[in-house]
Amino acid sequence: RIVVLGSVNMDLITRTPSLPDPGETVLGTSFTTSPGGKGSNQAIAAAKAGVSVAFIGAVGDDEFGATLRHTLSSAGVDDRALRTAAGSSGIAAITVDDQAENSIVVVPGANHHVRDLTEDDLAVIAEADILLCQLEIPLDTVVAAFEYARSRGVVTMLNPSPVQDLPDALVAATEVLVVNEAEEARLGHRVNEVPHVITTLGARGARYRGTESFEVSAPRVDAVDTTGAGDAFAGALAASWFTGPRASVEWACVAGSFATTRPGASASSGTRDEIDAVRDA
Ligand code: ADP
Repeated sequence: RIVVLGSVNMDLITRTPSLPDPGETVLGTSFTTSPGGKGSNQAIAAAKAGVSVAFIGAVGDDEFGATLRHTLSSAGVDDRALRTAAGSSGIAAITVDDQAENSIVVVPGANHHVRDLTEDDLAVIAEADILLCQLEIPLDTVVAAFEYARSRGVVTMLNPSPVQDLPDALVAATEVLVVNEAEEARLGHRVNEVPHVITTLGARGARYRGTESFEVSAPRVDAVDTTGAGDAFAGALAASWFTGPRASVEWACVAGSFATTRPGASASSGTRDEIDAVRDA
């Protein structure tokens, strides 16, 4: 069983020929809403991989909150520890122009209300095999959860995104670190303090350093949208971690690549069968 403690957002995506300058109004060509947030994306990716997943986080008491909760539960994620906080859900207002240039405003909303872990939250963590977190909720909450998880023998997996300086207590409580190349460069020597480090390398695949060192290449796919590939990778890694680093990193790599073949952040992740089919092709 996996527990994900993290963010859930509604992505509001507008397409327009060119981005508006300050004070300017431009006509857009399309508008879509799509569930996102790294926590939610990774929880859904792990659930689609066929393992039992619980999510701890918060949505707002607006319409997006109800939709986001439904998106998680219909993917099979246990939403009993998902709170509804007064105010808005987390949103990302994304504008993309014809050159694929974007401008993004993120409002954390309810995600910033994930501050105190309740007795129920702690019970959910204690019963899990793996706790998976990102950094789109208050850092203190992640540190507290990781320290508690370690005290209960739960494996802690951190995807430190958006990347920032990590407190010593968080590094000390992290067993598995999942980073892309930019995050790894930003964290520098700190990554060496973690027992297992997995670095995703985009179309080149992924690298593992820990009980051994190796690199796996990504399957060649027709990538149409790399949004959510890193989240699909992290969710699949957590779902398969107990098969051992090599098998797990290989499978997560295929899962990340599969996610690039479909649009969207959480809708793009594959089921176990879909991922296995790409691996065996
Ligand atoms: P992030 O999106 O977090 O920066 P990466 O770009 O490293 O992460 O991608 C995560 C994983 O997704 C990679 O390890 C790989 O498996 C897969 N992936 C990403 N881009 C491609 C691509 N163009 N072709 C095939 N696989 C890809």
